[in-house]
Amino acid sequence: MNLLLIRLIIFAVLLFAGLKLYRMYREWKLEREEADRSVPQGGQMVRCAWCQVHLPEDDALRERGQWFCSPDHRDKYLEEQKREE
Ligand SMILES: [Zn+2]
Repeated sequence: MNLLLIRLIIFAVLLFAGLKLYRMYREWKLEREEADRSVPQGGQMVRCAWCQVHLPEDDALRERGQWFCSPDHRDKYLEEQKREE
């Protein structure tokens, strides 16, 4: 068999394997980046019980087991609760 042909085949196989590995690496990296985005740094995301807006736990207010984005919404929510009782 022609030595050059064998080298060419080996080169093609290596190139193919390299491309496959590169693609796998890229997919893995993308998945990891997406995972990083869905879990924001600096604590968990919570939802304001009044306006349903999502905000970091650190910026939220907690009252009676509920989260609020501002004292204004906390007061409105508690007022509503009182009316319903
Ligand atoms: Zn709110």
